[in-house]
Amino acid sequence: MKYIGKNFFIEGVKVKNLAKKFQTPIYCYSYRRLKENIRSFKKNFKSLNPIICFAVKANANLKLLKEIKKFNLGADVVSIGELTKALKAGIQSKKIVFSGVGKTSEELNFAISKKILLINVESKSEILEIEKIAKRKKKTVNIGIRLNPNTDPKTLSQISTGKKQDKFGVTENIFLELVKYVKNCKFIKLKCISVHIGSQILNHQPYEKMLKVVDRVIKKTNYKFEFIDLGGGMGISYGKKVKNLNYKRYVAAIKKVLKRHKAKIIFEPGRSIIGNTGILVSKVLYIKESAKKNFIILDAAMNDLMRPALYGAEHLIIPESKNNILTKKTYEFVGPICESTDRFLTTKKFQKLNEKDLIIISDVGAYGMSLSSNYNVRLKPAEILIKGFKINLIKKRQKLKDLM
Ligand SMILES: *Cc1c(COP(=O)(O)O)cnc(C)c1O
Repeated sequence: MKYIGKNFFIEGVKVKNLAKKFQTPIYCYSYRRLKENIRSFKKNFKSLNPIICFAVKANANLKLLKEIKKFNLGADVVSIGELTKALKAGIQSKKIVFSGVGKTSEELNFAISKKILLINVESKSEILEIEKIAKRKKKTVNIGIRLNPNTDPKTLSQISTGKKQDKFGVTENIFLELVKYVKNCKFIKLKCISVHIGSQILNHQPYEKMLKVVDRVIKKTNYKFEFIDLGGGMGISYGKKVKNLNYKRYVAAIKKVLKRHKAKIIFEPGRSIIGNTGILVSKVLYIKESAKKNFIILDAAMNDLMRPALYGAEHLIIPESKNNILTKKTYEFVGPICESTDRFLTTKKFQKLNEKDLIIISDVGAYGMSLSSNYNVRLKPAEILIKGFKINLIKKRQKLKDLM
């Protein structure tokens, strides 16, 4: 993805032509970026030979899941819907992990009947529910228990999941109790200790802290876990000059634990696989001047990309076509929805924009389309996958009749 001359391209395709052909707003993904991300993820953790389960909640497009499957990734799912999609994409059930604090008995039944790799449980009640189902089906169910390691991931508080005030996982003491309980369960086999402390983590130190807790807890259980599931959370740069996560240090810390407790590592990356593969192309509908700033009213809104409204996340916005005329005005990029939080970015550095210009919102591959909604009865955008010069429509724009 880059400018060639004045215009922005995804691989061999001019974004302007995509907008003409498919209208706006549209999500566009680069296959090459996806491939590079998977390769580099594998390379970073090569010495651990881990099982890599793509976190489907980051992007659940079926065609993308099929591409991801071709690289032999498994899936981390959090609902029966995601599990069904992962299976439909051809991902083997032996490579699927089911996470989440509130799995219904319907979901557990389905997961058990599909013989997935692991159900990562998050409470005693969930274990009892699984035990009931397993007994009825006369099946042995493989589970992991998610530990809440009480570790601050040093990321946005809204996407922190491993502090004691967060709803996820169980405390150290309860973890130890549950291990004792499950050891005596006839129909449940405890295979895994799992953790996931949050998302968009760029500092290796929270991971090191988390691993210290994991190490201590495993030791206290005196139990031989077949798997250690370390979740995902690896951060990306979002167009800013940030220090990348130090994968070498992370790997070194993992190896220290493995020396004492031999196990197979599982990762559940979402954002680091898919985040920077996607852009959202939008058109400037109106420019509304006010004393201090200009509102750039886009045809994309918080229903298409919710991260800025939901977390205050910042996505870089760039012009589709460069004109090299800088403006002194402050621009506030907003959507048409009737909410004041329907804004994407405020910036003082932008070229002069005109109505009908196209702009590009960057790095929206993760938690972009998957968080989209029909709020204001707005149609969900189309999704396009670019492979070289090839344009694949991988999801059609919704039609009004779909919503009636
Ligand atoms: C969301 C989530 C992930 C993926 O997180 P990323 O930050 O996208 O890598 C992995 N595991 C669990 C349990 C999750 O909830």
